[in-house]
Amino acid sequence: MPLIRSSLLTLGLLMSPLALAKVPVTATFSILGDLVQQVGGDQVAVSTLVGPDGDAHVYQPTPQDIRTLAQSKLLVSNGLGFEGWLERLDSASGFQGVKVVASQGVQPHQMQDEDEDEDHDTHQQAGHDHDDDHHHHGGIDPHAWNNPANVLIYVDNIARGLSQVDPEHASLYAGNAARYKAKLQQLDADFRARFAKLPADRRRAITSHDAFGYLAQAYQLTLIGAQGLSTESEPSAAAIAGLIRQIRSEKIPALFVENISNPNLIQQIERETDARVGGELYSDALSPAGGEAATYLAMLEHNLNTLLAALEKP
Ligand SMILES: [Zn+2]
Repeated sequence: MPLIRSSLLTLGLLMSPLALAKVPVTATFSILGDLVQQVGGDQVAVSTLVGPDGDAHVYQPTPQDIRTLAQSKLLVSNGLGFEGWLERLDSASGFQGVKVVASQGVQPHQMQDEDEDEDHDTHQQAGHDHDDDHHHHGGIDPHAWNNPANVLIYVDNIARGLSQVDPEHASLYAGNAARYKAKLQQLDADFRARFAKLPADRRRAITSHDAFGYLAQAYQLTLIGAQGLSTESEPSAAAIAGLIRQIRSEKIPALFVENISNPNLIQQIERETDARVGGELYSDALSPAGGEAATYLAMLEHNLNTLLAALEKP
């Protein structure tokens, strides 16, 4: 049947450049960029807007970001109010592709203002008993990726989005996602066993900003951010004084600086209390390629090892 064979040949020739082309995907920040790469493998070309060590809370999109997004078939964002700048970028780009909100289906963690009731469980706020500070903690916590159980949901959402824009490789994406999730679950189980051994008085620490509420829930810690949920606002002098009083009275042992934040505030608190800086945590961004937290798995392992090393000390 020469006619059919020749049309198949023509079709094949027409298809091959398309089949070789990678799916252009935009991820809003480095952690999502890595997750998309893990699930998409060789089939995707990932552009990340807020890169390694970058702070998505205060990001300002560039004209290049508009062009990048316009040329993408898939946009992967965190959601939960993390990327306040995304809506304007999205409309400026005229993006026509598929949008995935990676956190869709995650149980959001609500941070409470000091003024609200004190009904919080493992994640306590700085306990101010005065009303002259402007240190607001309230709102939806966007940092859901810091609990690996949530990232299982992120990965499923990403695999679904990739399969929607590239159905030909759906089974590849599903397989990559399943293998990645198995690694993540193993890592989580290993660390749960280690954190379970920490005594009650070694389960509290201070971080630069409130990026670790979900991690604290997962491993039964109390991690208090000196700076609140976003890096946008500086804490007042009264708020810092209240935090220092709390560290002294509760004998909170450890402090942690973050890769996206200025360490000055944490260093000031170290000078005024017995708490000691236990290292640097990667909160909202990976390290650059070749660094110690260049993938989400490496970042999680680094953060959990750093927390344990400081908290396990007698
Ligand atoms: Zn943050």
